[in-house]
Amino acid sequence: TKKTIMVAGGAGYIGSHMVYDLIQQGYDVVVVDNLSTGHRQAVMEPARFYEGDTRDRDFMRQVFTQEPNVDTVIHMDAFSIVPESVADPLKYFDNNVIGVIALLEVMKEFNVNKIVFSSTAATYGNPEKTPIEEADRKDPINPYGESKLMMEKIMRWVDQAYGIKFVALRYFNACGAHPEGLIGEAHTHETHLIPNILRVALGQSDTFHIFGDDYNTPDGTNVRDYVHILDLADAHILAMKYLDAGNPSDVFNLGSSTGFSVKQILEEARKVTGKEIPADVSARRAGDPDILVADSSKAREVLGWKPKYDNVHDIIQTAWTWHSKHPNGYQD
Ligand code: NAD
Repeated sequence: TKKTIMVAGGAGYIGSHMVYDLIQQGYDVVVVDNLSTGHRQAVMEPARFYEGDTRDRDFMRQVFTQEPNVDTVIHMDAFSIVPESVADPLKYFDNNVIGVIALLEVMKEFNVNKIVFSSTAATYGNPEKTPIEEADRKDPINPYGESKLMMEKIMRWVDQAYGIKFVALRYFNACGAHPEGLIGEAHTHETHLIPNILRVALGQSDTFHIFGDDYNTPDGTNVRDYVHILDLADAHILAMKYLDAGNPSDVFNLGSSTGFSVKQILEEARKVTGKEIPADVSARRAGDPDILVADSSKAREVLGWKPKYDNVHDIIQTAWTWHSKHPNGYQD
């Protein structure tokens, strides 16, 4: 019989690709999502969809009652827009921190004792060195990163007290889409680099704005580590197998271990799309570290993770396939 996995936040950008990957690999999938930033159309068949909020304990009890075979929960339901978290921290602590507490409480009631959790590079803040290792200092510089670090700590104590095992995966820059463009990134407030560059390629905006070119990097623009969401999804499946084998709770970075600057990504997007993509340089945004690159050797060694998308050209190509087929996201 197929193992049943719950994806909380499965209608979101990364969650919808997680659901797709689980179905491909033969799992039975249950999705819980309140559609606050997700899309019902992004959830592929035959996943079973329950619309509701993970902070609502009664709703979650109903779902676990109807789905008594849930083996592991994949937690992707969170708010994740950094500037919004700075402007409205209580919204972030409420949804993210209260959300994971409510979910863990109901998991405990129903004896579900494994969780794989979407964490983030934002837990580190300004890194003390590059590439970043899991044990490096964690000093978040925004409420979003702080909320994720709090959630990791909560899971650590919950494991110790009740034996609910967790793997926290700290993603760096998640990007790309389903290779045939069936699902992809469709955020109302898009803050991510690649979709914003591709919006200019589609003619939906005139100019791409580079936020500062005087950073301490080779070409002056920020350097980040880009990882394809289907490689992220694979890492979650490996993390579930790691927990099934009885291994202890742990935390892993997920990145490609190679940094690319904003200008390098822009150049690559011009090649992929064949469009000019006009760009200018505008002021720095608050709180952007020079360089954020993961050391993800621990995930490779311990989980056996091997990212398939190992170059930015292919990653941008999958994003372009989605955005050029669906210029208005899930509205067409
Ligand atoms: P997203 O906003 O597209 O997806 C989040 C999903 O969770 C949405 O479908 C939303 O409707 C749902 N959701 C939010 N709060 C909920 C609640 N209380 N109850 C039920 N559903 C709720 O975001 P994403 O980019 O797919 O990110 C998914 C996860 O990965 C998040 O936890 C995010 O913090 C983490 N992450 C993302 C990135 C990235 O680069 N996109 C990097 C690191 C970590």
